[in-house]
Amino acid sequence: MSRPKRAERRAADRLQAKLGKDLLRLAASEPGGNPHKPITVTSPSEVEPHAAGLPCPVCQSGVRVEEHTAEVIDGVRLRVARVGCTFCKTKRAVYFQLAGSMPN
Ligand SMILES: [Zn+2]
Repeated sequence: MSRPKRAERRAADRLQAKLGKDLLRLAASEPGGNPHKPITVTSPSEVEPHAAGLPCPVCQSGVRVEEHTAEVIDGVRLRVARVGCTFCKTKRAVYFQLAGSMPN
Protein backbone atom coordinates (compact mmCIF):
# COMPACT_ATOMS: atom_id res chain seq x y z
CA MET A 1 0.00 0.00 0.00
CA SER A 2 2.98 2.31 0.55
CA ARG A 3 4.27 1.90 -2.99
CA PRO A 4 4.61 5.19 -4.87
CA LYS A 5 1.59 5.63 -7.03
CA ARG A 6 3.45 7.15 -9.88
CA ALA A 7 1.41 5.41 -12.57
CA GLU A 8 -1.78 6.61 -10.96
CA ARG A 9 -0.48 10.12 -10.71
CA ARG A 10 0.54 10.05 -14.37
CA ALA A 11 -2.95 8.90 -15.30
CA ALA A 12 -4.39 11.75 -13.25
CA ASP A 13 -2.10 14.24 -14.99
CA ARG A 14 -3.22 12.95 -18.36
CA LEU A 15 -6.84 13.26 -17.33
CA GLN A 16 -6.17 16.80 -16.11
CA ALA A 17 -4.50 17.72 -19.40
CA LYS A 18 -7.40 16.31 -21.38
CA LEU A 19 -9.92 18.16 -19.22
CA GLY A 20 -7.95 21.38 -19.73
CA LYS A 21 -8.07 20.89 -23.49
CA ASP A 22 -11.80 20.23 -23.41
CA LEU A 23 -12.39 23.34 -21.31
CA LEU A 24 -10.27 25.42 -23.68
CA ARG A 25 -12.21 24.10 -26.67
CA LEU A 26 -15.45 24.98 -24.91
CA ALA A 27 -14.17 28.48 -24.13
CA ALA A 28 -13.15 28.91 -27.78
CA SER A 29 -16.77 28.39 -28.84
CA GLU A 30 -18.01 31.14 -26.53
CA PRO A 31 -18.16 34.88 -27.36
CA GLY A 32 -14.64 36.28 -27.60
CA GLY A 33 -13.12 32.81 -27.84
CA ASN A 34 -12.59 32.88 -31.59
CA PRO A 35 -12.22 35.50 -34.36
CA HIS A 36 -15.70 34.76 -35.69
CA LYS A 37 -17.41 35.51 -32.38
CA PRO A 38 -15.76 38.70 -31.15
CA ILE A 39 -17.02 40.57 -28.10
CA THR A 40 -18.25 44.01 -29.13
CA VAL A 41 -16.73 46.98 -27.34
CA THR A 42 -17.21 50.67 -28.00
CA SER A 43 -13.62 51.72 -27.31
CA PRO A 44 -10.20 50.03 -27.50
CA SER A 45 -9.66 51.00 -23.87
CA GLU A 46 -12.35 48.48 -22.89
CA VAL A 47 -10.44 45.55 -24.36
CA GLU A 48 -7.89 44.97 -21.61
CA PRO A 49 -10.18 45.35 -18.58
CA HIS A 50 -12.77 43.12 -20.24
CA ALA A 51 -10.22 40.42 -21.13
CA ALA A 52 -8.71 40.60 -17.65
CA GLY A 53 -12.18 40.14 -16.15
CA LEU A 54 -12.71 36.78 -17.86
CA PRO A 55 -11.42 34.00 -15.61
CA CYS A 56 -9.16 31.23 -16.85
CA PRO A 57 -11.40 28.67 -18.57
CA VAL A 58 -9.35 25.82 -17.15
CA CYS A 59 -8.99 26.67 -13.46
CA GLN A 60 -11.17 29.81 -13.04
CA SER A 61 -8.24 31.81 -11.69
CA GLY A 62 -7.51 35.39 -12.68
CA VAL A 63 -5.71 36.16 -15.91
CA ARG A 64 -3.24 38.83 -16.95
CA VAL A 65 -3.31 40.57 -20.32
CA GLU A 66 0.12 39.98 -21.87
CA GLU A 67 -0.48 41.55 -25.24
CA HIS A 68 -3.12 43.67 -26.94
CA THR A 69 -2.91 43.87 -30.71
CA ALA A 70 -4.99 45.10 -33.62
CA GLU A 71 -5.33 42.44 -36.30
CA VAL A 72 -7.25 41.88 -39.49
CA ILE A 73 -8.67 38.37 -39.63
CA ASP A 74 -10.65 37.32 -42.71
CA GLY A 75 -11.00 40.97 -43.65
CA VAL A 76 -12.40 41.96 -40.26
CA ARG A 77 -10.54 44.39 -38.01
CA LEU A 78 -10.27 42.87 -34.58
CA ARG A 79 -8.60 43.63 -31.31
CA VAL A 80 -6.91 40.62 -29.81
CA ALA A 81 -6.02 40.36 -26.14
CA ARG A 82 -3.59 37.58 -25.35
CA VAL A 83 -4.07 36.53 -21.77
CA GLY A 84 -2.22 34.15 -19.51
CA CYS A 85 -3.56 32.52 -16.38
CA THR A 86 -1.78 33.66 -13.22
CA PHE A 87 -2.19 30.19 -11.73
CA CYS A 88 -2.04 27.38 -14.33
CA LYS A 89 -0.31 29.49 -17.01
CA THR A 90 -2.83 28.57 -19.68
CA LYS A 91 -2.68 31.09 -22.49
CA ARG A 92 -5.46 32.03 -24.83
CA ALA A 93 -6.59 34.86 -27.06
CA VAL A 94 -9.79 36.85 -26.58
CA TYR A 95 -11.24 38.58 -29.65
CA PHE A 96 -12.97 41.94 -29.70
CA GLN A 97 -14.55 44.11 -32.33
CA LEU A 98 -15.04 47.84 -32.05
CA ALA A 99 -18.71 48.78 -32.38
CA GLY A 100 -17.87 51.52 -34.88
CA SER A 101 -16.07 49.12 -37.20
CA MET A 102 -19.03 46.79 -37.68
CA PRO A 103 -20.22 46.49 -41.28
CA ASN A 104 -23.64 48.01 -41.88
ZN1 LIG B 1 -5.78 28.71 -15.12
